[in-house]
Amino acid sequence: MSNQESQTIVIGAGVAGLCTALYLQRAGRAVVVIDPLPPASGASFGNAGLISADTSVPIALPGMLRKVPGWLTDRLGPLSVDPRYFPKALPWLLRWIEASRMPRVLQISDAMRALHRTTFDCWKELLGQTRFYDLVRPVGQVHVWEMEAESPAAALERTLRERQGIRAEPLTADDLRQLFPGINRRVARGMLIPGNGFTVNPQRLVATLGELFVEAGGTLLQERAMKLIPREGGGYTVMTNTAWRSGAEVVIAAGAWSRQLLDPLGIRIPLETERGYHAMLTAPGIELKMPISNKSRAFGVTPMEHGLRVAGTVEIAGLEAPPNEERAKVLLEHVQGMFPEVDTREHRFWMGFRPSTPDSLPILGEAPGQRGLYLALGHGHFGMTGGPPSGKIVSQLILGQAPEIDVAPYAAERFQRMSVPAQRRAG
Ligand SMILES: Cc1cc2nc3c(=O)[nH]c(=O)nc-3n(C[C@H](O)[C@H](O)[C@H](O)COP(=O)(O)OP(=O)(O)OC[C@H]3O[C@@H](n4cnc5c(N)ncnc54)[C@H](O)[C@@H]3O)c2cc1C
Repeated sequence: MSNQESQTIVIGAGVAGLCTALYLQRAGRAVVVIDPLPPASGASFGNAGLISADTSVPIALPGMLRKVPGWLTDRLGPLSVDPRYFPKALPWLLRWIEASRMPRVLQISDAMRALHRTTFDCWKELLGQTRFYDLVRPVGQVHVWEMEAESPAAALERTLRERQGIRAEPLTADDLRQLFPGINRRVARGMLIPGNGFTVNPQRLVATLGELFVEAGGTLLQERAMKLIPREGGGYTVMTNTAWRSGAEVVIAAGAWSRQLLDPLGIRIPLETERGYHAMLTAPGIELKMPISNKSRAFGVTPMEHGLRVAGTVEIAGLEAPPNEERAKVLLEHVQGMFPEVDTREHRFWMGFRPSTPDSLPILGEAPGQRGLYLALGHGHFGMTGGPPSGKIVSQLILGQAPEIDVAPYAAERFQRMSVPAQRRAG
């Protein structure tokens, strides 16, 4: 029992939890990771694999609200909201609207930039050179649009990119045909973002973190954390489905399920799940050099070692509703529209739970009023990018070291501050 007193417990073996655990372990901490499932079984399993060091555009942007009714009524649209779940999601959706105001968007973009820009360095640090180049391709990403004219959303994205000094190279329809032979002529223009990249297998990438952790003496327990009990004199007891575990610090990195552990402690965070789908094409008959994101239809295609992954869509329906495979079938229609020669006959569908905050930024650091309880969650659409830098930051905070960047933008307390301007406006 005594060695349990000084260990750190990390709850969740996704990208956020395992990056935190590895950084802590390498600093000499005894670390235990608890998850009922093997590493990379949550959102980290089936994402699009984009690692976007040069992406600093939040999901909520000015003008988006006007588009929502159109999206909701379009079967092929990027967003769906389950009407039965809508009342539960409403407070989060209101904060999402709040986050889409321009002054806030600029702050969020700065914070995304600060966090994301070191992602490749962190992945290299965690994996070592050989594993990094086996699993990660830092070769760029392409964005495409189906209309010649720049939409207001695309113009805003360009402004945010330029503000951050991010390099992007415009591509004509002919350039796109050279890069992606067979691409539909309706794709009118594109943009290469050379500073971004991708992984050829998100599941293998995150499972490798788990292997490295165990090889270096870390303990991975297949248990479900049921409740956190603060201990007198400091630290926490984690009541799992089979045992009581004690730690000097506990890190909650349970992805979209994190609120189940935080709510009973009275820690209120706006965490919602944006459910997303992928269709894995195992015999697509075409090859892509790099990922391509269709910004006009909000989906992307990533070349992976086991086929082509078509991913996207946001579904607001909570953690309990069964998957709606119609949302995944839409992805097949989309990829056929972009690459008419693609063979979609052999496909596997998957659904995952993005752990999303309304402002596209993760929640990192000590939980308000709870000494020794740390949060590493809420990476939403960007966990494969933000996960490693976040793990480094949270480990540094636990170790009493100063992170290289200002961590205030990621603190849970920001949601308390955010409600102030709203009240002022109402008054
Ligand atoms: C369709 C889709 C496409 C995406 N594409 C990209 C992309 O291209 N690039 C990108 O950067 N991000 C992308 N994302 C987002 C990315 O996948 C997530 O942000 C990231 O995986 C979140 O990691 P996590 O570790 O926080 O959560 P998860 O990977 O979900 O891990 C959480 C873990 O916690 C465990 N857990 C839950 N409850 C408990 C409990 N009570 N006790 C113990 N353990 C528990 C779960 O079993 C799970 O293993 C995408 C997501 C989706 C759904």
